[in-house]
Parts: sequence; C-alpha cells; structure tokens
Amino acid sequence: MHSRNACKTCALGMGGAKGGMRNEAGHFPEVCKKSIQAQAADMQGAIPEAFFRETPIGKLAWLSPRELEALGRLAFPLIAEPGDTHYRRIGWPEALDRCGEAFRAAQPDETFVYASGRSSNEAAFLLQLVARAYGTPHVHNCSFYCHQASGVALNDVYGSGTASLVLEDLEQADLALVIGANPASNHPRLITQLVQMRRRGGKILVINPLKELGLVRFRVPALISSLIFGSRIADTYLQPHIGGDIALLKALLKGVLERGGEDRAYLAAHTTGFEAVRADVEAASWEDLAEASGVSRPGIDAAVSALLNARRGVFLWAMGLTHHAHGVDNILALSNLALARGWLGRPGTGLLPIRGHSNVQGVGSMGVAPVMKEAFAKKLQDLYGIGPLPEGQHTFASLEAAAEGRVKACLQLGGNLYGSNPDAPWAAKALAAIPFTAMVSTKLNTNHLHGRGQTTVILPALARDEEAQATSQESMFNFVRQSAGGRPSVEGELKGEVEILAELASRILPPKEDGSARFDWSRLKSHAALREEIAKSAPGYGEAASGREFQVAGRTFHTPAFPTPDGKARAVVTPLPRFDAAPDTMRLMTLRSEGQFNTVVYEDEDLYRGVDRRDAIMMAAEDATRLGFKEGDKVRVESETGAMTAVVFLVDIRPGNAAMYYPEANVLVPPKLDPRSKTPAFKHVAVRVRAWKREGG
Ligand code: SF4
Repeated sequence: MHSRNACKTCALGMGGAKGGMRNEAGHFPEVCKKSIQAQAADMQGAIPEAFFRETPIGKLAWLSPRELEALGRLAFPLIAEPGDTHYRRIGWPEALDRCGEAFRAAQPDETFVYASGRSSNEAAFLLQLVARAYGTPHVHNCSFYCHQASGVALNDVYGSGTASLVLEDLEQADLALVIGANPASNHPRLITQLVQMRRRGGKILVINPLKELGLVRFRVPALISSLIFGSRIADTYLQPHIGGDIALLKALLKGVLERGGEDRAYLAAHTTGFEAVRADVEAASWEDLAEASGVSRPGIDAAVSALLNARRGVFLWAMGLTHHAHGVDNILALSNLALARGWLGRPGTGLLPIRGHSNVQGVGSMGVAPVMKEAFAKKLQDLYGIGPLPEGQHTFASLEAAAEGRVKACLQLGGNLYGSNPDAPWAAKALAAIPFTAMVSTKLNTNHLHGRGQTTVILPALARDEEAQATSQESMFNFVRQSAGGRPSVEGELKGEVEILAELASRILPPKEDGSARFDWSRLKSHAALREEIAKSAPGYGEAASGREFQVAGRTFHTPAFPTPDGKARAVVTPLPRFDAAPDTMRLMTLRSEGQFNTVVYEDEDLYRGVDRRDAIMMAAEDATRLGFKEGDKVRVESETGAMTAVVFLVDIRPGNAAMYYPEANVLVPPKLDPRSKTPAFKHVAVRVRAWKREGG
C-alpha cells in the first residue's frame, strides 16, 4: 500500500510518485477497502499446473466471478484448442508464435484488439501502434460499455471528452451534484471530498433512484470523528425513476430559470444554443416533468434552492447516466444545467465523469479507440508512416462481426469482454465463433471460460506494481501518475504487458526477407522509449518523457475559453425519451456492490445495501406487496432477452423500479445501444417479476 504506484482500482488515482495512500494533492492517508481487496487478490499464489490438468473447462465455467478471482494468479501461458476439455500449459515461444501465425493468416479487417483500463499508458500506446501498423482500425477500450456517452457529450459541449476540472476544484466548490453514481461503494475516497465540502458549509445534492446508505451517511477512516460517528453526505436526496433523469434535469433547469438563477452574462459571452434550450424547457409543463421524472414538485424545488444558494458547483456522474439508450442526452441535459449557472470554465466549478478502472482514461488518451483524434492520427502518419485508416468498429459492432463469422483473430489486453457485454448467452456465442483469441491476464475470470475463442491462448501478465520498469496512468482529473513498479509477488513465468506486446509485434509484423523492418520492436520494450514516442504524438502528453507527474495539457478549464471552433460551450436541446414498456413491467437497473470492481467480485455480501447474495432483486416494499412477494421470496425475472431466478430484497427505491447485480444480470440486458455512444442500456431494462415455480410445477 505504501509503494509508489498508482492505485490499481478506480480512476480517482491515489498513490503514484507521491507514494501510496496519497491523492493528487498529496493528502494522506487515503486508502479504501477496494484498493486493499485488489492488492490482496494480486498477492495470491499461483494457480498450479496440476489444477488445470485436473479441472475441466466445463467445471471451471460453473465457478462464480468471486470464486474464479480467488483461484490465484496465472503464472504460465495456457492454451485450449478446438475439442480440448482442459486448458494446458505451453511455453512462451509457442504461445507467442501461435498468436503471430493467427494474425498473419487473417486480414487486418478480420481482427480486433481490446484493452481494459488496467493497462499502463505505455502498454496501451504500444497496443494501438501495433494494431494500426498491422492495419486494423478495430481498436477498442472498455469505455464503450462504460463512459463513452460522457466523452461524446462533453466533446459536444466543450470540445474535450474528459473532466473539465482538477481535484483542487472540488476543494473550492460549495455544491456537489452527484447523479447516477454511488461513489460510497465505487470510489470511496471521493466521499472524503464531499465530507470536507460539507464541513466547509457546502451542500451535497444526490440524485439516484435507489437510496444508497453510503450516500446518506459514511464513515471516513481518515477523519477520526467521521470514523466514530459517521458523516452525513446528502443534504438533498432525489429519487427519480430509472430513465427519468432528463425530465428531472429539465425540471431543475426550469426552476432555475423561473427563479432568475441563470448567469445571463456568462451565457451570452461564453455559450451558444442556450436560447433554444430555454424555449424547450419553458414549453415543458411542470406536471409532465414531475410525472416523467418521478420526483414531486417539493423535491424539485428543494434541489433548485440548493443550486441557487451555491456560488460554485461541480456536477459528478457515473454509469447511472451513461448506461441508457439516451446516455449522451442525459449528460447534455446535465451540462445545460451547469451552463445555466455559469459553472463551467471557472475555478471551483465543472463537470466530472467519475471514471471506473484506474487507467481507463489513459488508455483512451493513448489512442486505444476505433476513431483517433485528428491530431494524433496525423502524428502517427508523420512519425511512423501509418496511413489514415477507416473508422473502426465500436465494441459491440466487433461482437456482431464475430457472431457473423467475420472475426478471425483478436487480442484482449486485460478485462473481461464477455462479462461486460449485454445478452450474456449471445455474447458467449459470438466470442466462441472467433477462431483465435489471445488474452493477456493476471487472473482467471468468466471471459476465459465463456468468452474464449475456438483456440484461446492466455498470456500471464505482471501487475503494475510488479513491473521491472516504471509505468504511467492517467486519473479522471487528467493527471498523469507515475508507478515505480516493483517485484513480482508470485513465482512463475509472468511478463510485463509491454514486453508481451513487443514480442507479439515482432511476430505479427516480422522483418522483411532482407531483414529490414518498419519498427524496432525491441527498442519499444523500453518504457522510457515508449514515453518518448508518447510525448511526440499523444495530444496533451508533451511532458510524458519527463519522468514527472503532470496535468494533461488542454483538458481542464479555469477560464471559459473552450477548444470548440468558436471558443464557446454549447447548450443542446435534449428531447424527453419515450418508454413504451408494457404496464406490468418494472424498470430494472444493473449495479455493482461494495465488494466488487467492474466484473470482478471480491465478496458476495453487499454491506451497505444489506444484501448477502448476488442473485438478488432489490425492489420497493410497495411493489413487493403489489406483486404478492415478501423479502426472501424466490422469483423469476424475465426480460425480452432472458430470464433468471432471484431472491427479493426490500430497499428504498422509487416504486416501479428494481435493481440487480452486474454482471450476473447481464443475461437480462438486451443489446439496445445509445445511437451516439453505442453504449448498451445496462441501467434500463424492462422486466416482469413472477413468482418462482419449480419446473413442471
Ligand atoms: S478511491 Fe479508488 S483510487 Fe482511491 S484508494 Fe479507493 S480504489 Fe484506489
């Protein structure tokens, strides 16, 4: 925990060169259970070879995400070929050669690469460089199933797809609007900022269909009185319907405008499009907005008062806004409210998407995306002769291509592509149709069992604090942390991700017969050499080669001058989404638990919600009574896509809405994508809940 490495878990970005348990401002001690769980999981022993000999894949496939995580570290390459019932150990040369052969045999357009947010900037840069030099534009990072809607919307609003603010802005704000997020469970140290804001007299406004205990009261370990007595978090807590965010945000804007709370001078000087937004909001009736949002007028008025009483506000959100078929519009509606108050491009204000995995933002900054920024693509052309490639597929499109037999090989750098897809059975079939899949992993997860291709090679990787060379990661505040690396905590044949990628590159793109090669891949095994290339090409990363931590240039705004063509921020009209679900359905959202990180589950119990199993459906007492259920009843939950059995838990959620755990409930999630971000609507699924009957009963 003390090592000079960025926290492996969320993108709040603790640790780094300042040392473990320190945030970007140097505050100490900052630690949370999630980081300890991730660290402990990496410190497990190796899974012995005998285990793979003795345990068929079919048996492993029955294990839960938690049980797979607890098996231990992968310590040598593995392969499973068509007809194999077991994974078996192979040597590195054979494993790498097999990958090289598969990619050389395929057409570039028949391949894709994918990276999770675990990988370093150095590995991510190399991955996309190899992919583009090889010729595939299908370069994915996990954000298409996560925060892609944030990037799309923020680019619309101010020409940059990440947070507009830095950590210090949270210390200057006197209002935080937290919507569609549960940082108490998923980004615990962010709650410290909220507690400090309240201690300075600031207010916290929470919007979430489910009353999350950790957003009502939280114990901050670093603050003694908070640790003993707990700290109040939300001053105002609104519980809209799932999918009611745009209606609610319009209602809040309507209230602000009716009470003359907009910053007219700011809107006139620094924005475009606001008059159309004003007209749209004024045309909407209070009754319609209250009904569509599910929030009563007094609740809306209280929140409007909080907005008007604050001088500097920051708006924070996570997948509660992005995981919808109208995810981009959700964030545009939120941005309109921020613009109305003049809370963008000023100290102590701004928009902050709360990012998940520790380096998901850095992976995107390194060009691991199917569409590159123009300036970055030009650099690749100028520096390496990588010609312009067509726009690559979004992640779900690559899965569709796989299902149709159009993908011949893929390389997955970390993550759990199977586990993060909607319609889990369909995703398994799509991934199983790929002739060759390579996965670079630290531990086993459901992807290695349900998401494997016809031939699958697993390459064991070192964690970032085990790397022999330093790496870098980017936090959600656009701050690049340095990780010093360390020593492997497990015996075995593990390699660093960069070394693996460079070895693969030399096989996928071997030297010509005359010995000449476009790239010196052995030079690019050096992280320092990669950082030199990053500094030359990645926008905002000019300081990458300095070895220092730095703020990415051009991303955060403390004056209202934005990288849009006219330098102004854009307000955009957002229509109210229509929901045509049958009247006997409920709105279901999938969510994570406290002891979970993305698709990784560390413990089945969800302490804050009082739920002790993963096959739970959380619903309001009012709904349970109406449907004839009580807590503990077994029920069958059905969507247009699938069905699963679950056990009823009663929680404080807006009646008509329910929640189940991701990724287990992904069998229920239909592949409905937001048309702009291509992000599936994991948080809005129409379901019917029926009494469970024994089959044939
Ligand atoms: S809040 Fe996030 S970055 Fe901070 S210690 Fe916890 S998991 Fe790590």
